[in-house]
Amino acid sequence: MKQPVRTADTAHYPPLSPVSVGLRCACPRCGEGRLYDGVLTPAKRCMACGLDYAFIDSGDGPAVFVILILGFVIAGLALFVETAFEPPLWLHALLWIPLIIVLSLWALRVTKAMMIALQFQTKAQEGRLH
Ligand SMILES: [Zn+2]
Repeated sequence: MKQPVRTADTAHYPPLSPVSVGLRCACPRCGEGRLYDGVLTPAKRCMACGLDYAFIDSGDGPAVFVILILGFVIAGLALFVETAFEPPLWLHALLWIPLIIVLSLWALRVTKAMMIALQFQTKAQEGRLH
C-alpha cells in the first residue's frame, strides 16, 4: 500500500486532546511545536508542522474562565486563612499577591491554549450572516 506524501498541507494529523495540548501549550494540529512566542502572544506559525496561527481568535474567553475559577479558589483560600489563623494584613499581601500573579499567568497560558485547540478542532469562527 502506497503511503500518502506527508507535507505541511496534506499530512494527516490525528485529533489531539485539547487538555493535553493546552497543558503543554503546544500546536493544536501536531502537538509538537510551541504555541506561544512569549508569555501569551501566539507565534506566527508552528515550527514543527508549519500551521499558520493567523486563525487564532480566543477573545476574552480564557480571561473569563481564569477570573471566575481562580477568583473563587483564591478568595476562598484567603477567607479560610483569615478565619483559621487571623494573620496580619501584610502576610495576606505577601501570600496572595504573588500567588495570584503566578497562577493567573500559568492558567491564562493553559486556558488560552486549550481554547485555541478547541477553536482549531471545531473550526469555530465569528458568526456571519450571508
Ligand atoms: Zn504544529
